[in-house]
Amino acid sequence: MDARLEAIKDTVLMRNPGEAEFHQAVVEVFESLGPVHDRHPEFLEAAILERLCEPERQIIFRVPWTDDSGRVQINRGFRVEFNSALGPYKGGLRFHPSVYLGIVKFLGFEQIFKNALTGMPIGGGKGGSDFDPRGRSDAEVMRFCQSFMTELYRHIGEYTDVPTGDIGVGGREIGYLFGQYKRITNRYESGVLTGKGISWGGSLVRPEATGFGTVIFAQEMLKTRGTSFDGQRVVVSGSGNVAINAIAKAQSLGAAVVACSDSSGYVVDEAGIDVALLREVKEVQRGRLKDYAERRGGVTYVDGGSVWDVDATVVLPCATQNELDGAAAARLVRNGLVAVGEGANMPSTRDAVAVFQEAGVLFGPGKAANAGGVATSALEMQQNASRDSWSFEHTEERLTEIMVGIHDRCAATAEEYGEPGNYVLGANIGGFVKVADAMLAQGLI
Ligand code: GLU
Repeated sequence: MDARLEAIKDTVLMRNPGEAEFHQAVVEVFESLGPVHDRHPEFLEAAILERLCEPERQIIFRVPWTDDSGRVQINRGFRVEFNSALGPYKGGLRFHPSVYLGIVKFLGFEQIFKNALTGMPIGGGKGGSDFDPRGRSDAEVMRFCQSFMTELYRHIGEYTDVPTGDIGVGGREIGYLFGQYKRITNRYESGVLTGKGISWGGSLVRPEATGFGTVIFAQEMLKTRGTSFDGQRVVVSGSGNVAINAIAKAQSLGAAVVACSDSSGYVVDEAGIDVALLREVKEVQRGRLKDYAERRGGVTYVDGGSVWDVDATVVLPCATQNELDGAAAARLVRNGLVAVGEGANMPSTRDAVAVFQEAGVLFGPGKAANAGGVATSALEMQQNASRDSWSFEHTEERLTEIMVGIHDRCAATAEEYGEPGNYVLGANIGGFVKVADAMLAQGLI
């Protein structure tokens, strides 16, 4: 890392003790930014990096609620409003027991660059709670969401901060959150949340957008090597919203998607994952992959273990951070891996990224490859602002344009900085310069 940036990084790490994921996200970005600071000494003078690493506002609050047996439960709620240089804070809410400030800050930090890359007017933020929705009834989830929003409502708004879902937060939770916001404020403010249902201000394609976008990005990478998804053997991790839609899109482009996973195990389905059945098991019944395997029949279900043990030419990590390590990466590379498209946020460890890059594997980092979700959130905001709703075809076309645009911008930036094909560098520099220019223009705030 550039010596000037090293010193700034050391201070950031010292000021944010114990936040391993945030440190990882910061280091990964800083490693790309040396050459930018050679060309733009004004960024150093204005302490852009120091400011970028310090969230504009961090909100931590108590979320009390009662479970179905009448017992009081206490969770912790977070919203980190990281950077508003380009627009209102924008980013998801994650409900998962692993959530703590370091996770929210890593996600919020990534979101700044991701959102900048989309070309849409959105800043970066993230939030969530250590609440575990797994095994909770609808009524419990509703009471939790209502309590969460009873604090959050005062911090958000269409011009301030616009949350949506992430892990553990989907259409059901957004519904409960929106209902409570509307009740407290007495305002039908559609633009305050995205990921809404279609009849109450949501956008078509938003549920599919992250998974679709990841595949569109990966397809653009494959095109640079004169190939495509057609005939690729694909392994996807996860089996939630992002994974399911990535599987569907990859299949529609002619790929054989042979495996996916959940936190208990993975399934190998050599005939190709049955997306309709997977949707029913996961989205309608809120079941497990084991249930999919039982109902599908003739497939292998591996309890525990790693889905990265299954060979593939293209992998799409769509589960969670640090799910693919250096050893897994090396094994995949030995067995013929061609491309990686990250549907999740920071799913590859730094070791894994190094292995992919050294081997010349096409590697699309999450902040570029999974930006289709937030980009379509911005399209939902546009529709809300104009009280309009667009067709599926038009919205999908916009998503495709945006993803191709992100790919091309990353590729062109990498080329400009002398490292053609390095999408990590392209994404980090491309996102950073846009935000840094805006921060410079807006003065010391
Ligand atoms: N949680 C998604 C992400 O990681 C979507 C954010 C949004 O739509 O605001 O980008």
